[in-house]
Amino acid sequence: MERFAPAKLNLTLDVLGKRPDGYHDLKMVMQSITLGDTLTLEPGGEGVRVQTDLHFLPTGPKNLAAAAALRFYETLGRPVPGLEISIRKRIPVCAGMAGGSTDAAAVLRALNEKEGNPFSMEELARVGEGVGSDVPYCVLGGTALAEGRGEMLTPLPPLPRCWVAVCKPDFPVSTPELFARIDGMRVRCRPDTAGLLAALAAGDLPGVARRMYNVFEKVLPERQEVRVAEIKHTLIQCGALGATMSGTGPTAFGLFQRKELAEEACALLSEQNRDTFLAETV
Ligand code: ATP
Repeated sequence: MERFAPAKLNLTLDVLGKRPDGYHDLKMVMQSITLGDTLTLEPGGEGVRVQTDLHFLPTGPKNLAAAAALRFYETLGRPVPGLEISIRKRIPVCAGMAGGSTDAAAVLRALNEKEGNPFSMEELARVGEGVGSDVPYCVLGGTALAEGRGEMLTPLPPLPRCWVAVCKPDFPVSTPELFARIDGMRVRCRPDTAGLLAALAAGDLPGVARRMYNVFEKVLPERQEVRVAEIKHTLIQCGALGATMSGTGPTAFGLFQRKELAEEACALLSEQNRDTFLAETV
């Protein structure tokens, strides 16, 4: 079975507060795009084995694709058959685009189909919750509001189709470190989530694009914040309707109505950032 696993972008990301269980309450508008990984699932061998084209990714149960397969059969109450999963990675790792979670979701959808759809999509999203907070969203995909840890989902009217220039600068970010930093800060600027949802309902792409914002943009260490701001500036200069950062970064992206402008932005950004991609919304 061959499956496509699309990356996600955050049109908005707001952190509402820290919970007693140590997790944070989030409010995020999520969007799938045509940049994605390709997975091949084949029966064979013993247990679940994963092979990817990135040597540093885990091959055993620590790979989220394998974790999803194990969780699927555990929830189904059946023994795990031998399964070989190969992943062609295109989504940059640790980039804020849910690369691992979308691979896990693709495995859940594929196995559900293989076993005759024992779970509804909502049930399958719940199976994914144990694998990672972004997995339920990745099971459903499209445009959605994610709340709680990210697992409480409300499907939204689809974002009007547009072009996306996606750019991941070449520095790592630490998600736990950024959550720790935000706990010690007063967040002054937040996304207008309600306004963005109204713009979505009206099919108003420029209205959505200009309301995109991510609270983590101001939580990054200063040099990284400047790099992300520079990328956003380039995107806007090239004609993006709006630009923001995805997840805890460092990937930034801009939405474009015209393909030529998005291509121009990608050409410019790729001079300094190897991981630059042209995509469309899904
Ligand atoms: P998110 O946007 O959900 O926070 P991310 O883009 O920050 O995700 P990922 O690329 O999903 O982060 O990877 C984070 C970690 O997950 C890495 O340490 C990586 O080793 C591990 N990982 C496990 N399985 C995978 C996979 N299939 N693809 C990518 N990373 C994986």
